[in-house]
Amino acid sequence: MSSPTSIAPASTTDTEPVERVPADHFGGPWGAGSLTFLVPAITFYLWSCVAQHDGQLWLPRSLDDVIAMFPVPTVRAAAIFGAWMALQVVLQLVAPGKVVEGAPLPRGQGRLSYRMNGLFAFAVSIAVLVGLLASGFLRASVIVEELGPLLTISTLAAVAQSFWLYAWGRQRGKLERSSGNVPYDFFMGTVLNPRFGLFDLKFFFESHIGMGTWGALAVVLPVAELERTGTLSLPMIVVSACQLLYIVDFFVFESNLLSMLDIIYENYGFMLAHAFLVWMPFNFTLQQQYLLASPSSLPAWAAALIVVMNLVGYVIFRDANLQKQRFRKDPTKNVWGKPPKVLETKRGTALLLSGWWGLARHTNYLGDLTMALSWCLACGFGSVVPYFYILYFAPLLLDRERRDHKLCKDKYGADWDAYCKLVPYRIVPWIY
Ligand code: NDP
Repeated sequence: MSSPTSIAPASTTDTEPVERVPADHFGGPWGAGSLTFLVPAITFYLWSCVAQHDGQLWLPRSLDDVIAMFPVPTVRAAAIFGAWMALQVVLQLVAPGKVVEGAPLPRGQGRLSYRMNGLFAFAVSIAVLVGLLASGFLRASVIVEELGPLLTISTLAAVAQSFWLYAWGRQRGKLERSSGNVPYDFFMGTVLNPRFGLFDLKFFFESHIGMGTWGALAVVLPVAELERTGTLSLPMIVVSACQLLYIVDFFVFESNLLSMLDIIYENYGFMLAHAFLVWMPFNFTLQQQYLLASPSSLPAWAAALIVVMNLVGYVIFRDANLQKQRFRKDPTKNVWGKPPKVLETKRGTALLLSGWWGLARHTNYLGDLTMALSWCLACGFGSVVPYFYILYFAPLLLDRERRDHKLCKDKYGADWDAYCKLVPYRIVPWIY
């Protein structure tokens, strides 16, 4: 993104300057406007592949085929959605958790506080869910039957929330990093940190709803398989166990989210609202949905290799992120048993040259991608649909690395060039 310039608000009730930016990401207004329709359409299409076409790609041949891709909401799905959202809101409000400060806000506006109760809330949510399933009060196969209507309801909720967020941003008269272009701002958002006191909407929807609902479905889908077939398949166990490791890890290190681009930099608009309410829970569990639609087996040796691959990815991902986190707290702390090599910068925050950060500039992405690929491989080679996660995630992280590179170049100037000379690889040591 080009660096923003501050201009006065055109007609506002607020004296804060508006940060006006060019509408230049995702192909500008036309690109963002198209993505507003394309992203939900992709999600409905992928759902139809697993729910209506045995997990295979298909081509609509008539208008009826297209209409069938968009399930009509049901009362039962609305009740499940409403109960889940209500539980999450209540847990966010009452669950215990440390209050921590986020990163410094732009334009010297201080820092915001956040309550870190995601792990507690997730544990309670899963306990409630397992209790309902075990008691027979709720059947996993009912939730699976309602996945289509739930997808429609979640999409409508994301659209409604985005209109409301857009209106909120305008009403406050403090359009944070707005371009002034309506379709672009609707997609990218007009408000950075919408919140009621400690209840931060972007953080809540990313953590409790996005990650939490993904985790809940990673439990529900294997139970549905158990209900249907009386047994749990090896691929299903491998995918859900590996994903749950990733999700629990996220909640254990929930405060790391506060230093991520989504929270620090991105406004809360349709792109993120849809990502948290729809994209993450539905598309990240395509592997399990595929396994339900098209049961497959996995030899024990292949399952073992996939689990090892996932664990290797996890160790790289977690260790790299921890090394940076510890380094930011105490730049003298040993890395891999040795005093760290450090590049001092004019900006004041040093750059780590040891450990994973000396091998490539984003080995944490390498770990993430390794895990992602392992989850897809567990589904075998019968369809490209369960590979959607890696096919979407790899370009996303490649783009993210380039965006972060540009941000760091802006932040560190010549010092960043010096770091790039010392650590020439972007993501994969000695290769890329
Ligand atoms: P990173 O955690 O990679 O952080 C990038 C920042 O780290 C830079 O802007 C810079 O900020 C600092 N930094 C860069 N190099 C160094 C260095 N050598 N020494 C010290 N600090 C350095 O960014 P992300 O937020 O993109 O990723 C966090 C994790 O989240 C990753 O593991 C990623 O894989 C994962 N992720 C997962 C997604 C998903 O959908 N599952 C989506 C996106 C990310 P500064 O110098 O200002 O501190």
